[in-house]
Amino acid sequence: METKSVTSTPSNFIKNIVIEDLKTGKVSQVVTRFPPEPNGYLHIGHAKSICLNFELANEFKGLANLRFDDTNPVKEDTEYVESIKADVAWLGFQWDGLFFASDYFEEMYQRALVLIRKGLAYVDDQTADQIREARGTLTQPGTNSPHRDRSVEENVSLFERMRAGEFKDGERVLRAKIDMSSPNINFRDPILYRVVHAHHHNTGDTWCIYPMYAFAHPIEDAIEGVTHSICTLEFEDQRPFYDWVIRECEMPNVPKQYEFARLNITNTVMSKRKLKQLVDEKAVDGWDDPRMPTISGLRRRGFTPEAIRNFAREIGVARSNSTVDARMLDHFIREDLKLKALRTMGVLNPLKVVITNYPEDQVEMLEAENNSENPEMGNRQIPFSREIYIEQDDFMENPPNKYFRLFPGNEVRLKHAYFIKCNDFVKDENGKVVELHCTYDVETKSGSGFTGRKVKGTIHWVDAKSAVPAEFRLYEPLILDDSEDENATFLENLNPNSLQIVKGFVEDNMKQAKPLDKFQFFRHGYFNVDPKYTTSEQLVFNLIVSLKSSFEV
Ligand code: ATP
Ligand code: MG
Repeated sequence: METKSVTSTPSNFIKNIVIEDLKTGKVSQVVTRFPPEPNGYLHIGHAKSICLNFELANEFKGLANLRFDDTNPVKEDTEYVESIKADVAWLGFQWDGLFFASDYFEEMYQRALVLIRKGLAYVDDQTADQIREARGTLTQPGTNSPHRDRSVEENVSLFERMRAGEFKDGERVLRAKIDMSSPNINFRDPILYRVVHAHHHNTGDTWCIYPMYAFAHPIEDAIEGVTHSICTLEFEDQRPFYDWVIRECEMPNVPKQYEFARLNITNTVMSKRKLKQLVDEKAVDGWDDPRMPTISGLRRRGFTPEAIRNFAREIGVARSNSTVDARMLDHFIREDLKLKALRTMGVLNPLKVVITNYPEDQVEMLEAENNSENPEMGNRQIPFSREIYIEQDDFMENPPNKYFRLFPGNEVRLKHAYFIKCNDFVKDENGKVVELHCTYDVETKSGSGFTGRKVKGTIHWVDAKSAVPAEFRLYEPLILDDSEDENATFLENLNPNSLQIVKGFVEDNMKQAKPLDKFQFFRHGYFNVDPKYTTSEQLVFNLIVSLKSSFEV
């Protein structure tokens, strides 16, 4: 893992609070945490929260912990724990403490007993439905449970029996005793503990009662000495209860909760529940499908940690919800790869070209720059001979006006090579053009300084004899614009064209390409070597993002 670097991040309201708290001495060291529930893989929204928490701690020489909020045994799994650790590390962050909320179950239980002894919690026998009905609404107060006034002794005894496994799921709950008519519904005797007879990924069968998130989370923060507990806006109404738990449970450390707007991206599903549905229903190729907005999907697609971190910085941290255009993420990966990626040639839909005046059996090596914007990347040699492949749509038998690529009688420049002129073409029995016959002009060699005449089109190509076959996976958004059919579920709104697979060729020097290597294919875009399907026999490239400039030249 990389060592911590102190970088300066843009200003935001949470950072300003931290600066103020350090200045006034309210805190001596900032401590943050990223608290995922291990019930799915992380997505780009989580990346925003990870960057915020870790960069704040790094910038102010504080601590940032990774804490698994694993208080719900039914949905959690060690597969998710491992994937989350891998994703946070890959993003470039090193956690100070690695914690599990489940390690605090005993302390949470003891803190619940503190509440019971203070007359601030009671065991309720009502069913979940009864409790829900008695809760009231925003305009109507709730009604007290018939079990609300049990004695402390009876509550302690019942709570102990809950822990001992004497009750079935749903038979008893422990509730806070606050105010059933509070205007804040979170104060209407919220549930603190429920009975769940389920195996837990970390504590096994030790427990059959589990704390609710709203009770557990503040205690977790306090135990770890978190100073700034950062969460998303939907928890704003929970903040008074968060403070109540800290106070009434008599936690020695007093963390404070701050809320920021969650990240939403156009045409992007950003809920673990829905992403899990896509995986479970096999609508995608697992959590790391390159179309998924998961960190692992973005990695397999070809996004880099730098691009994601820069994106997170740029979108900023605000207190009002908004939706970010998906093209913004594309912008940051283009920026990151622009000067890093080798610019090479790949033909996605090959059409054979025979250069009829080029000597048979001759092969010459041509010099090609590896990145026209970054000379430090040097040059490479690419073979050129009598037969090459170009893109099918770089030829038209009957071109419209302003089509500057190949058509009968027209001349174009082959990138890094010569001008060629189309003289003839061959069709198959279905009328499809399958071969072009061209001639080249030896005077026009790239780099020779030829100024005799100009051509308007430059196209890419690969040498037919030495080219390496490759599969290209081209992506569109997984989800169609959801405004199309308001009543459709998101699974019915899947884009049928989100994955298109084509087979073509790349330059022979690509034989050495390794999984996760990234390239720019001239005129197409940025591609990543797919780590799942690439084998020693078969190169598979994922389209990361197309080039911003149009395909036309
Ligand atoms: P989801 O809504 O996708 O199921 P979650 O909030 O249930 O996510 P958690 O594992 O509880 O998932 O999230 C861990 C942390 O990530 C929380 O602090 C949460 O606020 C934050 N987080 C989750 N989604 C986003 C998002 N879209 N933008 C910013 N932060 C997010
Ligand atoms: Mg959550």
